Amino acid sequence: MSLRNEPNLISLMEGTGSDILKCMHCGVCSGSCPSGRHTSLNIRRLLKKARNDAGVLSDDSLWMCTTCYNCQERCPRGIGIVDAIFEMRALAVREGIIYPEHRKVGELLLEHGHAVPIDEENMAKREALGLAPLPPTVHSFPEGLEEVKKLMASCRFDELMSEK
Ligand code: SF4
Ligand code: SF4
Repeated sequence: MSLRNEPNLISLMEGTGSDILKCMHCGVCSGSCPSGRHTSLNIRRLLKKARNDAGVLSDDSLWMCTTCYNCQERCPRGIGIVDAIFEMRALAVREGIIYPEHRKVGELLLEHGHAVPIDEENMAKREALGLAPLPPTVHSFPEGLEEVKKLMASCRFDELMSEK
């Protein structure tokens, strides 16, 4: 794939692009990765791909990382592995690569101020415990929700979610 604005992925990764080039492929990161035991994620290979191929942005495994930081803490070269993942994810979204599930979470955030808004079942559980049905978050403070919406509009998150 080619990037919309610039062809060089590493140059776009200001914080960690040059870090990735220090990788010596020892495999400590992938050997430490709990997610890699259960998913398609091979973090060493993903970083290698990032060095050579902007197609990494549409690689499903980019989203399999749980950001536990095991790999980053253990990397003998001190590479900001998780930071690189965050940068690649941000670039992917800027390129319009947004999975339907992620878009749904974004839409919930825009509408309710929560990625997981409270539902009837949880309201009933709260009441059974003697709590107010709604927690003291934007659920209880509509004016707070308006502030959240303003914040998201100021960083154009709302536009991002409406682009299909
Ligand atoms: S642990 Fe660090 S140096 Fe080793 S393969 Fe992973 S990123 Fe590269
Ligand atoms: S931060 Fe991500 S890539 Fe690193 S060990 Fe955890 S799940 Fe694996």
